[in-house]
Amino acid sequence: MSHPNQAANFLKDEKRAHWHDETLWFVREKRDISSKGIPEWEELRKLASGIKDHVLSKLDYYLEELEKTASANGIKVHWAKDAAEHNEIVLSILQEKKCKAIVKSKSILTEECHLNPFLEKHGVEVVDTDLGERIVQFLNQPPSHIVLPAIHLKKRDISEIFHEKLQTEKGNEDPAYLTNAARIHLRDKFMKAKVAITGVNFAIPETGEFVVCTNEGNADMGVHLADVHIACMGIEKIIPKREHLGVFLRLLARSATGQSITNYNSHFRSPAPGKEIHLILVDNGRTEQLSREKFKNSLKCIRCGACMNTCPIYRRSGGYSYGSTVPGPIGSILSPGIDVKKYSTLPFASTLCGSCSDVCPVKINIHEQLYEWRQEITKAQGWSAKEMSMKMANGIFKSPLAYKVSGKVLRATLKTLPDSLIYNPLNAWGKGRNVPEVPKESFKEWYQKNRS
Ligand code: SF4
Repeated sequence: MSHPNQAANFLKDEKRAHWHDETLWFVREKRDISSKGIPEWEELRKLASGIKDHVLSKLDYYLEELEKTASANGIKVHWAKDAAEHNEIVLSILQEKKCKAIVKSKSILTEECHLNPFLEKHGVEVVDTDLGERIVQFLNQPPSHIVLPAIHLKKRDISEIFHEKLQTEKGNEDPAYLTNAARIHLRDKFMKAKVAITGVNFAIPETGEFVVCTNEGNADMGVHLADVHIACMGIEKIIPKREHLGVFLRLLARSATGQSITNYNSHFRSPAPGKEIHLILVDNGRTEQLSREKFKNSLKCIRCGACMNTCPIYRRSGGYSYGSTVPGPIGSILSPGIDVKKYSTLPFASTLCGSCSDVCPVKINIHEQLYEWRQEITKAQGWSAKEMSMKMANGIFKSPLAYKVSGKVLRATLKTLPDSLIYNPLNAWGKGRNVPEVPKESFKEWYQKNRS
């Protein structure tokens, strides 16, 4: 997996890349307008960051509390140390219920655990019910963005997919028409599913409840029609008390889409008579990330996607160029924590401009952590061309004589250097850059001639 190579693929279609950039910037602007609409925005960010810091410092305590209170409410709590264990737990529940078809609402965790292919391998039909997720599912693709899963597709693409999969009119790109077709198609799936799977946005140990946020109401539709609700959550999704929810709900909706509130913020506290709720608490590398002092606060992330929408690299390289479930700036911190070799190029997919940290509603120092990862990865690789050239530059800048001589040599040689030496596949610098015109003389020489 190499981010530069995948990004180069995305950039081959210049028009689409430009459109992708503009579309995400539009979302970023909506976020700006919405956040500036409340004077206490910075206060909320500070509060949210502090609450999450506190949770991470006592995560073991809060998780056990959640297990106690949720169990007392009649929720069956399971623990999964990794993706494999999580998937086995889900499968065992489905097998016990003799269930062969499920509906699922958007859950980044189940993407992270690759639940869909696992269940399909075991003969279970999985239907993603979020509209964007259903669209990418038709293409056998993962989401390209954590909030806007099909943001890389245009209306025309969706019209073609629906024509093929749902037999809509050829060439009809009307969003209302296409959405209605998806609604009819999904309604049938909802009616038949005995088990519904959702993610979890926030879990509250104080009351033993959890909250799921969607704009389409698909989580609610699935859960209320099914006999069994399986909710899958990463262990970092805790907020201590219900009173803290207001802070996070206000931040989440505004940061994600610029809405003042997400359409459906549904609380699940205990199963209705005759029904079951299962809550699976998944670690999958989170405890290890918590043990990394420099990177632990990446676990404060509430998955709003704002850092992606603002990132100049994400906007211009697309979600798939990251090759990880969570793309963009925060994914470039989380993914190397899971497999540093596989994701070693991701921390370099950043301008380090800091825009991601500026918009993050829980004040994660994203760009600083990316910089930290770069150092860790470079150290682990043992050497880097950049480090060697910096050492060389250090020697040259320290000595006026070396500076003068090397300047003369470079001015003479750069003019005669064949293009093939600079613009070739082995020299990444030459891709998309031109060597500036070489001056005839140094500034010092020019100044001495012209000072009078
Ligand atoms: S790191 Fe911050 S901005 Fe990015 S998705 Fe997470 S909460 Fe949102």
